Amino acid sequence: KQLTIAIDGFSSTGKSTLAKDLAVALGLNYIDSGAMYRAVALYALENNLVHDGQISPELVKKLDDIHIAFQFNPTNKKSETFLNGRNVEDKIRSTAVSAVVSEVAAIPEVRRHLVYLQKNMGKTGGVVMDGRDIGSVVFPDAELKIFMTADEDVRVLRRWKELKDKGYNTTIEEVRENLNHRDHLDTTRADSPLIKTEDAIVLDNSNLSQQEQLELAISWANKAKAI
Ligand code: C5P
Repeated sequence: KQLTIAIDGFSSTGKSTLAKDLAVALGLNYIDSGAMYRAVALYALENNLVHDGQISPELVKKLDDIHIAFQFNPTNKKSETFLNGRNVEDKIRSTAVSAVVSEVAAIPEVRRHLVYLQKNMGKTGGVVMDGRDIGSVVFPDAELKIFMTADEDVRVLRRWKELKDKGYNTTIEEVRENLNHRDHLDTTRADSPLIKTEDAIVLDNSNLSQQEQLELAISWANKAKAI
């Protein structure tokens, strides 16, 4: 049987890095569920559906017009996000999108729509999916669930360096505010808030290298497979 692995946790805890490494190591598909919420947020921004940080109720009527796909780019060996046929992989990582994505993700109809798509993506074989509600809502029967966390300072610095490398000009304080803002909305929203399910293994990677995290996760996956 193909494995389903759910990786959830707070913002900038290195979920997608571990999920990608794990997918390569175990020969599974990787899906970044956050990229889908980011694509919907980008659509809202580009279609004038955000006013003073508030999302227009009109967005919900447009959900069927928002087509999201992932495509593997052989040049950089990365899976890239497409919104209505356009490569938006860089745009969805912008600070403008980060500023409103958790407001978009709090809308129940948006969640219902994306969860439906995500469940279908899991039907085509083994998958590693990272996000906030993967172990709780999308794949409650996943063979392995990992809940990632790390010290705030470690997360802030990681994300700030990542943004700097991509050419975004933000301060450490702005990054800290955005992470805290998103974590607050993600943990307090009424509809499927971010939680650690009882059956998830906590991985605090404040002091772990990428390789150490991968080795731990592989050992858990092997145990899960054996059961
Ligand atoms: O994973 P990433 O940080 O890119 O996700 C962006 C935002 O999308 C999160 O801050 C959260 O508000 C939302 N999200 C969610 N549920 C998921 C994945 C992401 O609500 N499964």
